[in-house]
Amino acid sequence: MKLKVSNPATGEVVATLESDDARSVRAKYMQARAAQPRWGETRLTPRLAAISRFRERVAGESEKLAQVLSTEVGKPIAQARNELKGVLPRIDFFLAETARALRPRKVSVDVHASMEEKVSHEPLGVVANISAWNYPWFVGTNVFVPALLAGNAVLYKPSELASLTGLEIARLLHESGIPDEVFVPVIGGGEAGAALVRQAVDGIFFTGSYGTGRRIAEAVRGRMVKLQLELGGKDPVYVCEDVDVAKAAASIADGAFYNTGQSCCSVERIYVSERIFKPFVDAFVAEVKGFRRGDPSDDRTYIGPLTRAPQLKVLEAQVKDARKKGAKVLLGGERVKAKGNWFEPTVLVDVDHSMDVMREESFGPVIGLMPVKGDAEAVRLMNDTEYGLTAGVYTADRKRAERILAQVASGSVYWNCCDRVSPRLPWSGVGNSGIGLTLSTAGIETFTRPKAWHLRGA
Ligand code: NAD
Repeated sequence: MKLKVSNPATGEVVATLESDDARSVRAKYMQARAAQPRWGETRLTPRLAAISRFRERVAGESEKLAQVLSTEVGKPIAQARNELKGVLPRIDFFLAETARALRPRKVSVDVHASMEEKVSHEPLGVVANISAWNYPWFVGTNVFVPALLAGNAVLYKPSELASLTGLEIARLLHESGIPDEVFVPVIGGGEAGAALVRQAVDGIFFTGSYGTGRRIAEAVRGRMVKLQLELGGKDPVYVCEDVDVAKAAASIADGAFYNTGQSCCSVERIYVSERIFKPFVDAFVAEVKGFRRGDPSDDRTYIGPLTRAPQLKVLEAQVKDARKKGAKVLLGGERVKAKGNWFEPTVLVDVDHSMDVMREESFGPVIGLMPVKGDAEAVRLMNDTEYGLTAGVYTADRKRAERILAQVASGSVYWNCCDRVSPRLPWSGVGNSGIGLTLSTAGIETFTRPKAWHLRGA
């Protein structure tokens, strides 16, 4: 089957690829299964050396890779460059931390009973890495780099919307010394993903929407396979009355609209102290008006097209539903009549939690702002969601922020920042935002099976 890759900015087909089908996915799985034991037995040093070469190749080719990414997902080129730049410290983190994270550890020695207890970390085996398109470099490397370093073979399915980037990743890994059978790209959409899930893999590491994550959880039901699901969010921020309004508005507008709002941790709901609601909204709208929308290949562009054409309808429906229930559109609200998948940056007020725009992931340049009386109401509204990926508070008072954030059910919490990921911290979600984690040393161990050793001397 053919897979057409289109430029979301123009609709133009930029490449046609061959998709995998059930049979080729099976063959790839068998290849990976046969190759994994040897890779798992390889010492860590050559595995680290291969990933280190990969890191150098990514750095060396970053401009070309940014162009490929920008063309196929419509990411503004400056932001594509940022992603390529940002992936290097993530790889560096794994290079620096894997030996320590996976070193066998003595946990107790009882001299009298001559009993030693230790833990080692065994590779899971063959793992499926099913990935999203919005940050293919970030969400990909979070999985395949530690998975490979830990001795697993990886069947990597990039999103059908980021396949060219996926193939570049495979090329660079292979050229860096990762055997072809140990890192195997699987090309295609949902059917190829579903075929991959049907294989007897030892782990499934998925990044994508809640809907697909749930389908995968249902498909593996009853199978003893490790399952990680990194899903969507409806991430809130709360702005207290003591902030520097202009500074907070600039930071939060960036958190809501960067990557055209298509980040799992994009700000999706804003609650503002009623004491500063009006000046905050004015500053926020001014900020959004300043964002330059246009050709993603232009260095100055900040807002690009939506990557997925069907998301235009989702955004239109959210705006329509909100309007019907009394929301006011301060900016945008419509798709742009042009070739490609364009939606105007949109700011809504007079919104409430009866509206889809405050409950369902928008994953686009649309945001609602609501006034709140104080901290208690803000906490209640922030927690009124089925998701829990990130949440932020803007205030001059750190104690107050920590008190509020302690009450919010969320994988990551932010004080005076948002839309931020650190390789040193675990990335995880609460509720429909998923199960499991990546990043941090726990995100290295997650690609292994702990083995408990009870050793009694003679
Ligand atoms: P998606 O769910 O549409 O697709 C994700 C991947 O799943 C793709 O590779 C797709 O081909 C594959 N797939 C589709 N149907 C499948 C099936 N039945 N079985 C197996 N695989 C299947 O998501 P998307 O549009 O690529 O990504 C956007 C979503 O991802 C948003 O909800 C976003 O919040 C989320 N996301 C989450 C994180 C995180 O770290 N939590 C990071 C990035 C994106």
